[in-house]
Amino acid sequence: MTDISAVSRGTGRNPVAPGAGRTVAAAVPKSLVARLARGVTAGGDAEPVTTLAPLTGEPLAELPQSTPEDVAGAYRAARLAQPAWAALPVRRRAEVLLRFHDLLLKRQDEVLDLIQAETGKARLHAFEEVLATAMAARHYGRSAVGYLKDRRRGGAVPVFTHTVEGRRPKGVIGHISPWNYPLELSVSDALPAFAAGNAVVNKPDTQTALTALWARELLIEAGLPAELWQVVLGDGPVVGPAVVEHADYVSFTGSTRTGRDVAQRAAARLVGASLELGGKNAMLVLADADLDKAAEGAVRACFSSAGQLCISIERLFVHRSVADAFLARFAERTAALRLGGGLAYGADMGSLVSGRQLETVTRHVEEAVKAGATVLAGGQARPEIGPLFFEPTILDGVTPEMAVCSEETFGPVVSIYRFDTEEEAVTAANATPYGLNSSVWTRDLRRGRAIAARLRTGTVNVNEAYAAAYGSVASPMGGMGDSGLGRRHGAEGILRFTEAQTIASQRVMPIAPAFGLDDEKFAALFTKSLRIMKALGLK
Ligand code: NAD
Repeated sequence: MTDISAVSRGTGRNPVAPGAGRTVAAAVPKSLVARLARGVTAGGDAEPVTTLAPLTGEPLAELPQSTPEDVAGAYRAARLAQPAWAALPVRRRAEVLLRFHDLLLKRQDEVLDLIQAETGKARLHAFEEVLATAMAARHYGRSAVGYLKDRRRGGAVPVFTHTVEGRRPKGVIGHISPWNYPLELSVSDALPAFAAGNAVVNKPDTQTALTALWARELLIEAGLPAELWQVVLGDGPVVGPAVVEHADYVSFTGSTRTGRDVAQRAAARLVGASLELGGKNAMLVLADADLDKAAEGAVRACFSSAGQLCISIERLFVHRSVADAFLARFAERTAALRLGGGLAYGADMGSLVSGRQLETVTRHVEEAVKAGATVLAGGQARPEIGPLFFEPTILDGVTPEMAVCSEETFGPVVSIYRFDTEEEAVTAANATPYGLNSSVWTRDLRRGRAIAARLRTGTVNVNEAYAAAYGSVASPMGGMGDSGLGRRHGAEGILRFTEAQTIASQRVMPIAPAFGLDDEKFAALFTKSLRIMKALGLK
């Protein structure tokens, strides 16, 4: 087994994955950019923005920007198209999702190139987006009819009241998505919104707009009327509020800071919002965990998409009795990860997305080291691979005054903490205002699930990093506390895009004095009826 010191700073530089032949410019030609850019609603006079490819720093795409008036125009077009879509049977709408599923799997290489070009992530991590999006398409394609069908409910007076609960579309959904999972986060929330009969005005991040625009084209090819999915682009603080301003419901994924602003604007308009926000997610390695599997899992948990994943792990709690053995395995695997920027499978980790991300990651690591933290693996930028590469990094000896201890880094950096008792581990894991995801490793599944139930996070994975819960698309996913409001996936993930409507029809007798009964006799009759209903076990 490798001694931890052998992979510590300076001796264990991550290897570089062999590069692929294709360049970003060849994979994303100007003609493709021009075609996709036509999908943006932007007729105003806003200056176009040129995005850069994170892997190389070269210009990637010049993209039109929308004004608040363009956003209003997008809503007008969406509102015109929505009623005809809502009038279709749910089954017909759901079929579009199933066709999209097949097209996505068939044409995945096109979007894998775009995701890599726009985010800099490794192709394997880009594929996770295809996987998650296809799963959501299949689930809502197959289950929308069941989720949305009319349901008979117990009436006010048995036999005489016939009551049905129905689901009506909200109308036009304002959907704001971030850059880190551009396919998954632009599409997976839009799919149930469409299945429920809504139109969508989507504001992806400009950095990753090509991926969202490509997905829009594919969904149109699968049968979605083009006007139903409007894409607007622009500066978040300007165009984002305009999206909220006209929405019948807001679906937002991004930072907690922006989420609060979106929530306040939605509240002022009395429209609902679901908010999928940040996290400072914890992983617990119990004394009886399979340490090889836990170390493998920790690598996925901390470094997928270079840690720019809302559900990735940034705090790792390990039982003191197995800490050295676990850390040796984890550090060895981390130092062996191949960094690379090729548009092909082969690299284990790609680049960060922007200079801002690199700055935060560098600052968190440098400040911690200066204040006494130890680097067990990684710890440095790797500009010789690409301008925004940073090594997967494990920090030990992190203390509460260090920013990396409590602030979301949103990068490939994890801090190690040791614990002695289960109680201590649960308390420490819960000691954060966030509550998005967590992970527990143990050979005792019953114990793992019992600990999971005590963790204040919207998802918990036992013996997996994040994919088990996130991929369980029939079950809700989202955050507690500062990690958000509402849930995607499962029944909640589609019902949020609907209004519940109760239709109750009364027959034979009204719920009021009638047939010659005076008020007193009516009250006496209903008092008796209520007692009988309870005795009969009616709900
Ligand atoms: P961000 O909040 O800066 O931006 C997210 C989106 O909101 C972008 O499209 C941006 O242009 C837009 N925006 C910015 N200001 C706005 C405003 N005032 N009103 C409306 N929209 C505005 O977040 P980011 O840095 O792009 O994304 C990273 C963050 O997202 C991280 O905190 C991460 O944890 C979180 N995230 C959460 C989930 C989840 O499912 N919980 C998933 C992915 C990312």
